[in-house]
Amino acid sequence: MTQIAQLPSPPLLEVSHVMKHYDGAKPALDDISFSIRKGEFVSVIGPSGAGKSTLLRCINRMIEVSKGEVRFEGISVGQLNRKDLKKLRSKIGMIFQHYNLVDRLTVIENVLHGRLGSKSTLAGALGRYSRDEKQQAMELITTLGLADHVYQRCDQLSGGQKQRVGIARALVQDPKMILCDEPIASLDMSASKIIMEQLKRFANEMHISLIVNLHQVDVALKYSDRILGVNKGRLVFDGGPGELSSELIAEIYGTASPAPRARYAS
Ligand code: ADP
Repeated sequence: MTQIAQLPSPPLLEVSHVMKHYDGAKPALDDISFSIRKGEFVSVIGPSGAGKSTLLRCINRMIEVSKGEVRFEGISVGQLNRKDLKKLRSKIGMIFQHYNLVDRLTVIENVLHGRLGSKSTLAGALGRYSRDEKQQAMELITTLGLADHVYQRCDQLSGGQKQRVGIARALVQDPKMILCDEPIASLDMSASKIIMEQLKRFANEMHISLIVNLHQVDVALKYSDRILGVNKGRLVFDGGPGELSSELIAEIYGTASPAPRARYAS
C-alpha cells in the first residue's frame, strides 16, 4: 500500500508583523510574528508593560492592530464583519486575572454565560439555555471540582474557585483556543498549581491551544510546550522551555544589555 506522507497541520493562529500604537511614540507591539498550532500550550513572559496583554487582546480583536495581520484558521481577523467577529470570538475563550465573573450570579449562571457568543441577542438576554448546554455546564463544573458550589453565588468563592469558574465558562464555548491573561497572578501557590494543571490537562485532552500570559518564569518553564519572550513590545525569544537559559531570561526581563531585535525568535 502506498504510504501517504503526513503533512504538518496548518497553524491555527498566525500573527504576522503586528504593530500596535496606542497614543505614545513607542509602539506597545513592535513587528511581532509567530504562529500557534492546535493543542499547543504557549506561555508569554516578559516584564510588566512589555505588551503581553496587548498581544492577547489583538488576537481576538478586543483591540485593533495598527499594522500587520492576525489570521485564525486561515481567516484574517481584521477583515471580519460584526457577525463573523462574534463567531470568531465564540471559538476563542478568554480567562482573566480578576476572573470577570458576575459576582451576584451563581456558578452555573456564570458558566452558561460562556454560551452567549453562540446565541441570538434575544435568547441570550432572556437567559435561554438548552438542556444540552446546561448538562455540558454541569459536567465541566464537576470536572473542575466545583460540584458542591453549582448554585452558590460567585462572590462567596475563593480566588482559585473563581478562576475554575472562569475556566469552565471558557470551555463551555467549545473553544479552539483560550487566551489566559495572567490567570494565576492573584492566586496563592497551591491554587495556582491547580489552575495550571487544569489548563494543561485541557490543552492535552481537548487539543485546545492555550496562550498564557505569565509573570512567573518557573511556571512557564514547567507547563509550556513553547515560550514567547516579549520585551518592550518585541518578540525576543520563541522556543521550547529547554532553550531558555538564565542569560536569555535576563535579556527578556531587561536586566542585561538589550536583546538584538528578534535575535532568538524563530
Ligand atoms: P503587559 O501586559 O506586558 O504588562 P500591556 O500590554 O498592558 O503590557 O502594556 C504595554 C504598553 O502599552 C505599556 O506601555 C502600557 O502602558 C501601554 N498600554 C496598555 N494599554 C493601553 C491603553 N489602553 N492606552 C494606552 N496605552 C496602553
